[in-house]
Formats: sequence, structure tokens, C-alpha cells
Amino acid sequence: MSELRVRFAPSPTGYLHVGGARTALFNWLLARKQGGTFILRIEDTDVERSTKESVDAILEGMKWLGLEWDEGPFYQSDSFPLYKEYVQKLLDAGRAYKCYCTAEELDAKRNLAMQEGRKPKYDGTCRERDDQPEGKPYVVRFRAPQGGVTAFDDLIKGTITFPNEELDDLIIQRTDGTPTYNFCVVIDDASMRITTVIRGDDHVNNTPRQIQLYEALGFPVPQFAHVPMILGSDKARLSKRHGATSVIAYRDMGFLPEALLNYLVRLGWSHGDDEIFSMDEMIQKFDIHNVGRSASVFNTEKLLWLNAHYIKNSDPERLADLLMPHLSSREVATPGGPDLTAVVRTLQERAQTLEEMAERAVFYYNAPAGYDDAALAKFDRGHLLTVFGAVTEKLSSSAADDAAGIDRLFKEVCGENGWKMGQVGQPVRIALSGGTQAPGIGEIVMTLGMEETVRRIQMAREYVAGK
Ligand code: GLU
Repeated sequence: MSELRVRFAPSPTGYLHVGGARTALFNWLLARKQGGTFILRIEDTDVERSTKESVDAILEGMKWLGLEWDEGPFYQSDSFPLYKEYVQKLLDAGRAYKCYCTAEELDAKRNLAMQEGRKPKYDGTCRERDDQPEGKPYVVRFRAPQGGVTAFDDLIKGTITFPNEELDDLIIQRTDGTPTYNFCVVIDDASMRITTVIRGDDHVNNTPRQIQLYEALGFPVPQFAHVPMILGSDKARLSKRHGATSVIAYRDMGFLPEALLNYLVRLGWSHGDDEIFSMDEMIQKFDIHNVGRSASVFNTEKLLWLNAHYIKNSDPERLADLLMPHLSSREVATPGGPDLTAVVRTLQERAQTLEEMAERAVFYYNAPAGYDDAALAKFDRGHLLTVFGAVTEKLSSSAADDAAGIDRLFKEVCGENGWKMGQVGQPVRIALSGGTQAPGIGEIVMTLGMEETVRRIQMAREYVAGK
């Protein structure tokens, strides 16, 4: 019995993409489900394109999602001596050879092959050479098996077979002595004793080369699970063109981490018709065999729907904390204003994102700087002035101390004047919030407080009177 060890191995050349986050999630879920180990490895061998900012952004995204890792982060750039050691081992064993062909020679051969309609594959010139030209630059190539096939049983895609004759003698070390990507991955996965490699299916074509390397080095070959891509609505691979693709951008747009995780887990994986999964349920129910073979289309509407669900069901105090940065960016200061948790309670039923919630919370703290004139224009001026007067009088003389009590007062005002609720509720909502998109009147009044409510109705009355 072997213990499950999985890894997420992002290249730090950008932020944490939602596709990467889903790969990380699948790995994490499997580890949590089976009591295995989840490792984070930063694949920064591409020194030109890897940045510290990107590493930070990836770690930030992982932490925000709560995908905590058990080992790492390990950096490939720390393992160069190890890679060198294994290159030497393969050379010593005759499983790799030095290739002195120049870039020009290789280009010429490639062009000739293309002209003659052959696959442009390294022709093996240096495979059997036994001289070692002094001082001439060389790469190290893996001596790949020539005949037969390399096959593996992918946990998602089933059996995949590659004829070996289609695979080049892979370069494992460049002229400058640095190891190449596919080689590093194998050394790392083997030395980290990874048992299951779950990654994007853009790596399917790398897998046979990697398997050949495992075999040549005498390492056990792990299992592979290649997760299909995420596409945009036009069925092209999801990219910035389709909108936000970074996990942190979703945080900043006001998504809850559990909503994004729930969305991502269902992107390609299903469990009956279930849509809502708590973390515990995901861990319990996730099965890599139930990940579909075809690509999935990213659907923002569904993500919004899930986010609204989680906002509605979240603890208002937690939401209040999460809402703070969204309020600060709107120059809203909460001290001295209504209790933010109470504000959240009036908004969480309807908000799809924290951004939307923040937008709707602004009026509680900043009195309207203007009014929705089109909405006011639906009522005649005389009516508005009478309503504002009557409501002010009613509220000032009341001792109502809950939303239901306030709602009753409004019913009384309606009854006494022969008005319908809309004829009173809308003008007052506009007076209090500036517009008509606001929670129920009783809730607003209770949250704003009686004094502030009366003050705002008075302001609106002056505004209308001065028109
Ligand atoms: N670094 C690779 C990537 O970001 C992942 C390689 C792997 O998982 O084997 O696509």
C-alpha cells in the first residue's frame, strides 16, 4: 500500500489562473480525501519568465482559497545540482549522449525533412558518435527508445498510446548547462515520491517523454490524470479576452472563496445533479474518475448564482469583515455610522457579490448626494411634499423599535391618507438612499436610526420644495 502524494506545480509566469486553481483544488481534494500529502512546487526553471511577484500572487491565491499545502513551496531553481547529477547518471549509463549539432545544422535538417514531407525529428547524428570534440558546445539528449510504444492509463482520459518513433531524442540539458523542463519535472516528481500527477491536459504530450525518463532512471512511474481545459463562451481556451481569469481578481470583484471553489469543482466534475458542495462534502464526494473527458465552458452567471447563495447563507459578521476593503475603496468610513453587521443583514439576501453589497451599503454611511430624478418624477411634487411631511410626523411621534413596527407605521400613514404603499414607500426609499434599489423600508429605518431617517427625509423635502 502506498500513501498518496500529489502536487500542484505552477510556473510563476503570471497570477494564479482559475484553471490552475482548479488543478490545485483537484489535487488538494484527493489528498484530503485519502489522507495523503499535498505538495506545492514552484516550477521556476524558466528564469527569464519567472518572477517573485508571480510567486507571491500564486501563494496569495492559494491561501485565499484555503488550499493549504503540506510540504513546500519547493523551488526548482534550488535543485539545479540535483538535476545535473541525474544528467550525469544518464550519460554514464549510456541513456543520454552529448549532441554537438549546431542550431544551423538542425535548422537545415528540419527544413529538408519538411520539404520531403517527413516529420521534423532529430535524425540521431550524434547518437552513436564516440568522439568528444574538445571545447565545442553541446546539448545532452536522452537516448529515447526507437521502436514500440509508450502508453499509460490516464485516470481521466483512459489509455493513451504514443508510437516511440514519433518521439525525439529529447534535449535534457542545454548548451549553457541548464536542465530542460520535462527532465526537471521527472526528477522532482520522482524525488518527491509523487504517486499521482494531476495536471492540465496541455501536458498530455509531455507524458510519454517523461515516462521514458522515469523508466531509464529506474524510478516508479506515477499515475497520471489530465484535466481538460477550461474554455470561454466562444469555446476558445479561457483567457483574459473572456474577462477575469485570475483568482485574486475574483476576490477583488467580491466573490467568496467557497463560492469559487464550489464553482471550480463542478467545472468538469459531477456528482449526480448536486450543485452545492461544502468543503467537507467536496472532500467526501470528490472522485478523480468522475472528472469528464471534455473541456468545460466557464459560466460567470452560474458563478454569480453560487456566490449569491453563499453570501445569503454566510455569517453576517464574517461578511462585514470581508466587506471592509470594498467599502474603503468607495471612501466609506463606517465608524460613527450604522453597525456594519446590521447593514449586511439588510443586504445579504439580494447581493450577488461583495462589490454589489458594498455599492448598496454606501447610502447607509454617506447621505445621498443627489436623487434619482426620474424615479421622483413619477410622483407629483405636492404629493411628495405631503408624504414627506406625514411620514416625518408619524416617525417622530413613534416608539417603534423593530422593522415590523416601522412597517406598521407606514401602513398607518397609508391608511390615514388613502395612499397605496408604493406611493409612500418609493418616495421615502429615494429620500433615504437616493434611489429605489434599497432594502425594505422598516429595515432601512431601523438600521439608519430614527434621527438620521428623519434628517434625510427633511433633506429630500427641501430638495423637492426647491425644485
Ligand atoms: N508547471 C506546469 C504548468 O504550470 C505544470 C507541470 C506539471 O504539472 O507537470 O503548466
